[in-house]
Amino acid sequence: MNVLVINSGSSSLKYQLYDMRDESILAKGRVERIGMDSSILSHEPGNRPEVREVSEILDHTTAVRKVLDMLTHREFGVLRTIHDIEAVGHRVVHGGESFGESVLVTPEVKLEIRRLFDLAPLHNPAHMTGISAVESNLPDVPQAVVFDTAFHQTMPPSSYLYAIPTVLYRKHKIRRYGFHGTSVDYVSRSAAEFLGRPVSGLKLVVCHIGNGASCTAVLHGKSYDTSMGMTPLEGLMMGTRSGDLDPAIVPYTINKEELTLNEVNSMLNKHSGLLAVSGISSDMREVVQAMESGNESARLAFEMYAYRIRKYIGAYAAAMNGLDAVVFTAGVGENSDVLRKRVCEGLTFLGIELDEARNAVRSGEPRLITADGSRVAALVVPTNEELLIARDTYRLVAQSRTPESSGPSGTGKGT
Ligand code: ADP
Repeated sequence: MNVLVINSGSSSLKYQLYDMRDESILAKGRVERIGMDSSILSHEPGNRPEVREVSEILDHTTAVRKVLDMLTHREFGVLRTIHDIEAVGHRVVHGGESFGESVLVTPEVKLEIRRLFDLAPLHNPAHMTGISAVESNLPDVPQAVVFDTAFHQTMPPSSYLYAIPTVLYRKHKIRRYGFHGTSVDYVSRSAAEFLGRPVSGLKLVVCHIGNGASCTAVLHGKSYDTSMGMTPLEGLMMGTRSGDLDPAIVPYTINKEELTLNEVNSMLNKHSGLLAVSGISSDMREVVQAMESGNESARLAFEMYAYRIRKYIGAYAAAMNGLDAVVFTAGVGENSDVLRKRVCEGLTFLGIELDEARNAVRSGEPRLITADGSRVAALVVPTNEELLIARDTYRLVAQSRTPESSGPSGTGKGT
């Protein structure tokens, strides 16, 4: 089965086409600047060089049509006809409390994703546009949705509730949802496989450290607690997000700086974190480079960033009453040996003994970075959210085709 995976943003659309017989990627690419002048389609057919096409792409429906044209292009295509696409899987950021697992797209599911627009006003509408765009181009092809929040729906109330009047939870569903769930799920299973132990017997802390960053306590294969909250702003210090802070800072800043609520919100999401403290960049590579050439603000930003990760690892080891492994993933987690070293240095009391040579190795494979005698392991495991979306889509579509299946099933919890 060929499965097309789509990650649709407000002005962009990323895609990967999988052949699920061997999970190989037939092609991948992205459309950028949708709705603006000169949109760009970048397409990588298999192992051949990237092709770029600049044209006017006014909406997501046109973007999907252009992608389909490219996938069946006589020179750069990888498919004979668009009918060779048998299923489409979408990434959806927010599934609220309605979705504890991936589901096939049905009218009820679409209604529910729309109902959740309030919780993810930047993301969910863009994902919905992607779903509709596929519907108009490939009306007979089944679609599935995979939610960033779904993996965290196993958290107990003591982890997901905030200590504020409970009416706010009852009326408005204000609670911790957590994000990066698709990645954490994939990475925990890969880590268990690498360790040769069932995930159901492990206590893991997964550190997904990219532009956005979170730590998750994965207890016996399920999310027990996670650092991002109702929105991705909470928890670790990130590229441009503040992470945890005293909520009283918000009204105080509004008063002192004469800012609006929206301006403070934008400050905390877009102008804080590594960028604000270093005064240099939100990109860890540039911060490390500046730190190594003696820049003190960069050093402070790096220290704060590493310190928060270490604090969360310690907290989650306590929350789970034990720890088998810490797993680093995503852009910074997979690539920055300096950051991993700084985080692990303060965790020897937990039984994490870093092996510097192993930590310095670069490879696209899961690997151990602690010494052989280390009581708790630290691993680097490359994440692959697209592959997990393709796998879930394949499984749901295959299940719906079995004779005993009662039609498009899997509408998730409460929908
Ligand atoms: P996103 O959260 O956007 O998916 P990624 O997981 O792709 O982000 O991570 C992107 C970030 O990874 C970049 O902003 C950069 O800071 C960081 N990064 C990538 N390569 C390196 C590296 N070699 N060393 C340190 N940081 C890196």
